[in-house]
Amino acid sequence: MHKYVIALDQGTTSSRAVIFDEQAHVVAMKSYEFEQIYPQPGWVEHDPAAILNTQTDALREAVRISGIPVEDIAAIGITNQRETTLIWDRATGRPLHNAIVWQCRRTAPIVKQLCDEGYEDYIRQATGLVPDAYFSGTKLKWLLDKLDLRERAEKGEICFGTVDSFLAWNLVSGHPHVTDATNASRTMLYNIHKNDWDDTLLKALDIPRAVLPTVVDTSGVIGMLDTEILGRAIPVAALAGDQHAALFGQGCFKPGMMKNTYGTGCFLLMNTGELPVTSKSGLVSTIAWRIGGETTYALEGSVFVGGAVIQWLRDEMKLIERASETEMIANSVKDTGGVYLVPSFTGLGAPYWDMYSRGTIVGLTRGTGRAHIVRAALEAIAYQSADLVSAMATDCGRKPTQLRVDGGASANKFLMQFQSDILGCDVIRPAVIETTALGAALLAGLAVGVWKDMDEIRSIWKMDLSLTPQMNEEERRTALAGWHKAVSRSLRWVEEDKA
Ligand code: ADP
Repeated sequence: MHKYVIALDQGTTSSRAVIFDEQAHVVAMKSYEFEQIYPQPGWVEHDPAAILNTQTDALREAVRISGIPVEDIAAIGITNQRETTLIWDRATGRPLHNAIVWQCRRTAPIVKQLCDEGYEDYIRQATGLVPDAYFSGTKLKWLLDKLDLRERAEKGEICFGTVDSFLAWNLVSGHPHVTDATNASRTMLYNIHKNDWDDTLLKALDIPRAVLPTVVDTSGVIGMLDTEILGRAIPVAALAGDQHAALFGQGCFKPGMMKNTYGTGCFLLMNTGELPVTSKSGLVSTIAWRIGGETTYALEGSVFVGGAVIQWLRDEMKLIERASETEMIANSVKDTGGVYLVPSFTGLGAPYWDMYSRGTIVGLTRGTGRAHIVRAALEAIAYQSADLVSAMATDCGRKPTQLRVDGGASANKFLMQFQSDILGCDVIRPAVIETTALGAALLAGLAVGVWKDMDEIRSIWKMDLSLTPQMNEEERRTALAGWHKAVSRSLRWVEEDKA
């Protein structure tokens, strides 16, 4: 009897393994943190061995504590921090540098050069992305330049991969050099329309095709787990970037369905169906998943400061002791008393794209108290997310009917109710909050027949909380107008050369 599926969730700060049963309940879970390496201001690296060791330890330990016989594990799915870039020697498998993490800004000059050479529009059109150092392409160019590897790369002696690719190489027998379409779509080297690496961009960055992995489906068996790891060969049957896995784990299978993850920042993704949507609001167009050779696309936007504004209230302002208190404090007043807090600590992303905006609190009166500020901070998380939803709605001409939510701050019912109010649509929180891991497990289980199709997955997906809007249209319009006025006061605050 094979009835369990394991998700390996390789994140930015920790590696986790989560075991699910056939009903998609969490049976066991283990995670290990690893070191963040900061060689210079703005640079971030991970030790590849630390990524691999924490991930295999988490897998072994989760299986051990679950007490499940390895014979009952039907499949393993891998989901990962996206864009983080590794290279290794094809003959020995030895990493040739630390992983360059998505947050790392070292390649900003390469991006600027690409834009100066006139590639900006081409990048948007071909890859769906906004040119940025965040994505893997310029990181790979930097590595090939720095380590003087072009010649070896051309001869096929070097492998590039994102974390999914690196784990597949190391965990699967026979060392397949693969990545899936979602991870490929975050490299800024992948043409999301043609579903192939983009020759124009490879040429612009001087990257030989021979270093690139083969792009496989998001759900599909790529090989068997090396028997050294758990003592048995188990199909490794899914690879997916974390946000894409979460969209799947939230059951957003139909165009127009969307999810928002409320963590330090917020990540909002909307399924846009079979065709990529070119955003007019600075959102990113990306591959949601590829299953059976069929590609589903998504629009993606992020809020830079989400739950982080709550950390700021706690750590810098000392207005609260714990994030969870904010719900009670916000509910202790009937509104913010006209106060708006715009947490643009590092500028604003879509739909404003103003790197020179800085945080502000407006509407203060002699009667403003702690509770009003706390409430305004929570509301700001919802307003920023609502701005993304409305940009998506404009881009694809659909009115949202429902938002599915997860992440640490989705525990806050005040925030979730306000989100529903300000969007004017239902907010649904699932029973399994581990949506990233769940998505990877569902994608893997789907590939090996634990679940026969998406309909069956839909039938086991369960919600925990459903909230409907309580605000009337006029209140909503007034509240949003106040927010947009507050945002306008925060824009272009710092001088360009001081940003
Ligand atoms: P990440 O994965 O980005 O580390 P998590 O999903 O663990 O984030 O969520 C943590 C974030 O959510 C923190 O920024 C924290 O301030 C915020 N948070 C956690 N619980 C609550 C809560 N009850 N109300 C509001 N914010 C919360």
